[in-house]
Amino acid sequence: MKPIVSKDSIVYFNQECYSALNAYLEKVNHSKICILVDSNTHENCLPYFMSKIEKEYDIEIIEIEAGEIHKNIETCSGIWSALAELGFDRKGLMINLGGGVVTDLGGFIACTYKRGINYINVPTSLLAMVDASVGGKTGVDLGNLKNMVGVISESEMVLVDTEFLGTLPVEQMCSGFAEMLKHGLIQDREYWEKLSDLSKLELEDLDQMIYDSVIIKNNIVFEDPTEQNIRKYLNFGHTLGHAIESFYLTHPEKPTLLHGEAIAIGMIMEAYISSKLLSVTPNELQQISDVILATFPKVDINPVDYQQISQLLIHDKKNEKGNILFVLLTTIGDAKYNCKVPDELILQAFEYYSSL
Ligand code: NAD
Ligand code: ZN
Repeated sequence: MKPIVSKDSIVYFNQECYSALNAYLEKVNHSKICILVDSNTHENCLPYFMSKIEKEYDIEIIEIEAGEIHKNIETCSGIWSALAELGFDRKGLMINLGGGVVTDLGGFIACTYKRGINYINVPTSLLAMVDASVGGKTGVDLGNLKNMVGVISESEMVLVDTEFLGTLPVEQMCSGFAEMLKHGLIQDREYWEKLSDLSKLELEDLDQMIYDSVIIKNNIVFEDPTEQNIRKYLNFGHTLGHAIESFYLTHPEKPTLLHGEAIAIGMIMEAYISSKLLSVTPNELQQISDVILATFPKVDINPVDYQQISQLLIHDKKNEKGNILFVLLTTIGDAKYNCKVPDELILQAFEYYSSL
């Protein structure tokens, strides 16, 4: 699989990752290397990854606890201090070996520690492979508000090795699948149709589907790295999805929702809004809802919570001058950004989802 080149980074696939990594490590003389892992990737991914590094380097392992609730500034603070205590200077290298939490948080640490050191993303979850590790968005949550603090700055390289997926729990695979569906919905009808027909998808197809997803994301980010225009498409499903994710994150009495599971709900609701405001047809809406619900069982959102979830929308980063702006679909495979949505339609979208 040919590497995918972006503005300041390059994405390698499978075994090519390691020749690229070893060549890079040899070429750039880093004073120290830190590999950031979480408790799961420490156990499941680190031994394999270490076995691929050919020469001896001064490597420190830093482990964080797994889970979105640890993607916060307190965790960063601990790591910044650890790096300082370990004597990391500006020639240090950070390798983020994990899911989107590790790549988002590790990228943010690398971009801010001593005003920025080099970093490499090695995504180990499907979601991080197809989305989080590509495109240079880094950051952490602030309380229950998602990705409120962060910077955009690309990694030196991204190493996508699908071997890591062997130990990924099935619900996490589904969570990543949500972002792949999103890529089809916003940009590529043919890709969406391939993904939709899950019965025809073989495991051998997965590598190609991941590759195609990275191409879609990379093409968008390449054209608009700082999200002035088309990068906003990638937020489809995320306006309501993030609000739902934040709400469930801070209500431990309710079931836990993974990022992709919340985005799946968000995509159905925003497809509904698209059918009311733009040209998504009833058939397309039905197809989107059916395909998503075939992978993501329905979540019973209590109608008394609709209001509280909607209030979280005011913190959405796409908002401008107090307007909540959505990305909507014009059809399957094409999107439009900066769409204003009346409050009552948001409420109707909750009702539509609950009626399915
Ligand atoms: P995650 O990092 O929490 O990983 C999910 C779980 O899988 C964790 O428990 C992790 O320890 C475990 N895991 C990861 N790889 C494993 C492996 N190979 N074997 C066994 N267990 C493994 O979450 P995620 O779903 O990967 O990513 C979600 C995060 O990504 C969210 O914080 C979201 O905001 C962020 N995100 C960022 C971008 C971006 O552009 N920066 C895009 C999409 C999502
Ligand atoms: Zn996402």
